[in-house]
Amino acid sequence: MTGFTRRGIGALLAACLMLVPGLALADAIQQTKGDWQDKFRQLDVDLPTPNSYRTASGAPGHQYWQQQADYRINLTLDATAKRLTADQSVRYTNNSPDTLRYLWLQLDQNIYRQDSIAELTRTTSKDQLSYSNLARAQVMKDIPYGMEIQQVTDERGNPLPYTVVDTMMRIDLPQPLASGASTGFKISWAHNIINQNRVGGRSGYEHFEETNTDLFFIAQFFPRMAAYTDYAGWQHKAFLGRGEFTLEFGDYDVAITVPANHIVSASGELQNPGDVLTSVQRDRLAKARTAKTPVFIVTPEEALANEKQAAQGTRTWRFRARNVRDFAFASSAKFIWDAMGFRQNDREQPEVLAMSFYPNEAEPLWSKYSTRSVIHTMETYSKFSFPYPYPTAQSVNTWESGGMEYPMITFNGYRPNIDKKTGRRTYSAQAKYGLIGVIIHEIGHIYFPMVVNSDERQWSWMDEGLNTFLQNVAHLEWEEGFGGHTRNPNLPSAITAYMVGDGQVPIMTQSDSIVQFGPNAYTKPATALTILRETVMGRDLFDHAFREYARRWKFKRPTPADFFRTMEDASGVDLDWFWRGWFYTTDHVDIDLAGVREYRVGTGNPETEQKFAREQALRDQREPLAQIHNREQGLKTAVERDPTLRDFYNENDKFAVTNKDRNKYKEMIEKLEPWERAALERAEKDGDWVYFLDFVNKGGLVMPLPLQLTFADGGTELVMIPAEIWRFDAKQVSKMLIRPKQIVAVDLDPRQEIADADPSNNSFPRRISASRLELYKESRDQKDLMADMLVELKGEKAEEGDKGDVPATPSPAVPLAPAGGR
Ligand SMILES: [Zn+2]
Repeated sequence: MTGFTRRGIGALLAACLMLVPGLALADAIQQTKGDWQDKFRQLDVDLPTPNSYRTASGAPGHQYWQQQADYRINLTLDATAKRLTADQSVRYTNNSPDTLRYLWLQLDQNIYRQDSIAELTRTTSKDQLSYSNLARAQVMKDIPYGMEIQQVTDERGNPLPYTVVDTMMRIDLPQPLASGASTGFKISWAHNIINQNRVGGRSGYEHFEETNTDLFFIAQFFPRMAAYTDYAGWQHKAFLGRGEFTLEFGDYDVAITVPANHIVSASGELQNPGDVLTSVQRDRLAKARTAKTPVFIVTPEEALANEKQAAQGTRTWRFRARNVRDFAFASSAKFIWDAMGFRQNDREQPEVLAMSFYPNEAEPLWSKYSTRSVIHTMETYSKFSFPYPYPTAQSVNTWESGGMEYPMITFNGYRPNIDKKTGRRTYSAQAKYGLIGVIIHEIGHIYFPMVVNSDERQWSWMDEGLNTFLQNVAHLEWEEGFGGHTRNPNLPSAITAYMVGDGQVPIMTQSDSIVQFGPNAYTKPATALTILRETVMGRDLFDHAFREYARRWKFKRPTPADFFRTMEDASGVDLDWFWRGWFYTTDHVDIDLAGVREYRVGTGNPETEQKFAREQALRDQREPLAQIHNREQGLKTAVERDPTLRDFYNENDKFAVTNKDRNKYKEMIEKLEPWERAALERAEKDGDWVYFLDFVNKGGLVMPLPLQLTFADGGTELVMIPAEIWRFDAKQVSKMLIRPKQIVAVDLDPRQEIADADPSNNSFPRRISASRLELYKESRDQKDLMADMLVELKGEKAEEGDKGDVPATPSPAVPLAPAGGR
């Protein structure tokens, strides 16, 4: 605060009110020299310097540019050989101010080569081998994976020199590509499709043993233009598996030739329904556009019949996708297909067709929830960003759990349990909520990063964190307590176990170097944004700023600085302390409400104050126990036995009011300025209670202090103290509160909204923590070899591989025999 005049301060000191009880206030706590940290230091010193491409406000600058890459691909899926072959032409437009002598492309399939950086740098933490790792090594030994580049030519068929560098390929141009010019080239390529169950990764094929059928879900499969940007030049960091990708926007025209009984789902819109769909299917599709519930285009019965029949020849499905950053598809004879139109208030895209594709193994879960979840995502996300900008939104069941996103198409997991003997189908709460959640997540990714095109190879949190935040918003707009069967739906209290743990890196860490990927890239940033929205900024300011970020960077390429700056620029809230703490450090939140002291304002009047002091002394200084025992034993003191020993001091204790006291009080009152006297009289009349609350920052993160005051009359009050209270001392602060009623308890973070890791130090007075002690019975079991032999022989349970976008769970280990065994 400014504006205190010298006279003002002087007057304040001279007339400083006495506080009762007159305990000395602790001196203002000084931070230890050498240990000082300014948690509110502005972030601009660390962010990239604004320029004409990206402004200091976080918006695209007046010279913002990005490249364009348009593709035509003729693709053939050999479902028997599990192989893709293609002819592809690319038109690349150089909108940058620079002249380019070569172009870089991503060959993500090369990650599955045995000599890839990703493969050679896989590490282990223990001497153990899981069944999935063993089976993976066997598949990798048997089948050569990776991109086979057959030919690279210019548009007239002249060969172009190219160099493959791990998962990247450089094409050297015969003529430098000037700013504003475009060039075209062609690539013929092929590759074996990975067995996703065994190899892992985000795409491939799934084989269904029992029916001997396959489901293909194909992504990151063709040579894609690497991003060329104003902030990083070529983004050609090798694909190591985590940092997904960042690509250029463009238009796609893709012809996919597949076995005739396959149904194909792909990025974009189907261009030739007359060639590949029956008239019945086309009629159903037309009805689905205006239907109130999902309509089957291919029914479960039809899909079952379809997967049993042998394919006769092939069919070519043609898809067009405009202004997308990638292309993916799924193809199978197993697909049930349902669809439902979604209408939105948008002139450019008034109607979106939500569709789901899934095998019979996914029923009855999928027909009930998939397409409805797709629509729910668009309803929720559009409120926080922009209307869904594409004609289709698709959810394909490609695996048992997990998910992955591409423009207009998503691959999603979770299936019911099928009892092999009875055929009875049930599903767990985790499968139900997991499915709805993963579909929301993956469809949500069509907004972030498929449209708000952040650099996933560099910053996982920019798409996963923002998206997981909105996913959780959508969860709670689907159903209260969403997913409570298997997880804590309150992000701030769910994240604390991670945030106090070891082995963390800051959120601002390059994707492939992140330790504990799930909580780091997904949950922690999602929690941070939730806290910003619900606690720090409030919904009005947060929602406005977040929408502004989405609007500014729709179909453009934001960096972390653009997000940080826009959130402040549009809300008017200084959040540098928040970005600094949550995104650049591994600190956690643990604020200790270390003490609360209660005072009344002293009047200075000896008649009332001495009486109070006497009562206080009786409370603070107890009678000697020996004196009590004396009395109990009936001992009479000398004075009691002989009253003549009494005098003045037996009648007046040290709190007796004297005339000297009364004169002093009168003098004090007379010296007060009129306004000071008025304040004193007012305080006497109001009888307010004054409290000093001490807070100690044990976790490191500075946060606002949400407080609940409970009064003697049973009433409560919520108080929110902004995080700026920590700006002079980030370790320890005291706060004064004046209330007309007596406070009996203070609770810090009573609604669990600031991710405070240790609630046991959040209450004053401290609470006894209540819990239940489970009694246990000591086991007296002994190994009974005879009985163990008689136990029925059971089948082995299948295990899960690494599944795309959602972090996978560890699988069981194969017992290892020492080398050279026994
Ligand atoms: Zn994701």
